[in-house]
Amino acid sequence: MTPKDVWSDLKPSLRKHYSEKIYESWLKLLMFEEFSAGRVYLSVPTRFLRDWITNRYLNKLLTLWQEAMPGVHSLEVLVKASTEAPVSETSSPAVNAQASRAPDPQPVETRPEKDAPAESRLDARYTFDSFVVGKPNELAYAAAQRVADSKTIYFNPLFLHGGVGLGKTHLMHAIALHIKEHHPTRKVLYMSAEQFMHRFVRALRHKDILSFRDQFRSVDVLMIDDVQFISGKDSTQEEFFHTFNALVDKKKQIILTADKSPTELKGLEERVRSRLGWGLVVDIHPTTYELRLGILESKAETLDIEIPAHVIEFLAHKITSNIRELEGALNRIVAHATLVGQKITLDSTQAVLRDILRANEKIITIEDIQKHVAEHYNVRVSDMHSNRRLRVVARPRQIAMYLSKKLTSASLPEIGRKFGGRDHTTIMHGVKKIEDLVSEDSAFAEDIYMLENILKK
Ligand code: ADP
Ligand code: MG
Repeated sequence: MTPKDVWSDLKPSLRKHYSEKIYESWLKLLMFEEFSAGRVYLSVPTRFLRDWITNRYLNKLLTLWQEAMPGVHSLEVLVKASTEAPVSETSSPAVNAQASRAPDPQPVETRPEKDAPAESRLDARYTFDSFVVGKPNELAYAAAQRVADSKTIYFNPLFLHGGVGLGKTHLMHAIALHIKEHHPTRKVLYMSAEQFMHRFVRALRHKDILSFRDQFRSVDVLMIDDVQFISGKDSTQEEFFHTFNALVDKKKQIILTADKSPTELKGLEERVRSRLGWGLVVDIHPTTYELRLGILESKAETLDIEIPAHVIEFLAHKITSNIRELEGALNRIVAHATLVGQKITLDSTQAVLRDILRANEKIITIEDIQKHVAEHYNVRVSDMHSNRRLRVVARPRQIAMYLSKKLTSASLPEIGRKFGGRDHTTIMHGVKKIEDLVSEDSAFAEDIYMLENILKK
């Protein structure tokens, strides 16, 4: 079999190895170019596709090649501008053979989608009203309201950033919903950066770039969610940059979100990065106890079931990761109580949420403890394992043993091993010593208490 034949066999099988969608969007355009000195060269029509495929699918593709043809040791994807008009593979014989085998040879994706509305669905629950404001998000909230309510452009773009599940998408939707209701003549377009990219790639494929651009450039407010997604993707970034500039020139509002600030986003071209930071950059901070409490209370009000205050406090206290998880936890205990027809109690809450609660617990390791204690008492971490008996060294070591016993689930022999292979009785002795000191000496106790809190943070 020639390498070309191998490819004709291999390519249709990619539909099975990946999803239909991945195949249709990316892999379908791969063509065999040549095989030389153990290296297979495939090609795609754009640089973007090359990068995308190389980053995500190359290893697996190589493995598949090697299975089919053991002489292959590497694989490279080249860019080869397609000379034939529209990139449609139905004219190639290899693909005809494959089409007769595939169940659905004409996927909907290949239809031009000029007429389809470019906008993503807005979630009607994500309003300003349902957004609970607290210290971590008050600035973002105020900026979002300002943008939603005024025709004057105060800052362009508005760039909201923060970790996952902290309310960026919620605020974006709130702005869009507000404008639709109160300023219906303003044209708003909301989409994720991923959708932006998909549409862009599709437009490239259908040679439909002009209408793609028109769609974007005729709006009054453009919102792109999660722009970190376009970093590293050169041609999408380039297109995004031009769209951005065109809208800024026309004095149209742009609103963006990302998981990091423009300066921290990796893989962005410098000019794109600096442009993103031109307007107002606001971050949404991690939640505080008060905000979590407020959110839980406001969600609980909308439910038909009674949730005891101490359960709400317990959740606000324990689930600190993000708001999405907090909501998920609440929904779960409500669903459980409804299903089994019982009241919500602290016990049932703890049982139902065991896995989430565990994941939210900070895991403290013996190494963490040794490091912090050594820092605190200004001794070397190596002294935690050493045999030096000097009080200035031995005492911190005992403190670290005590904290290891108290804050981790390690057994005494395990702790002993981490302290230079000491016997478990030595550990027990050290723990006892510190317990005594804590009960006798309040200044000492305070010191230990402080260390404990540092470690728990
Ligand atoms: P992000 O886009 O930052 O990852 P989302 O906007 O998707 O986060 O928020 C995750 C979930 O938490 C959503 O269901 C959202 O409604 C909810 N949420 C986030 N912040 C708040 C808030 N301040 N008040 C009420 N609900 C919130
Ligand atoms: Mg989001």
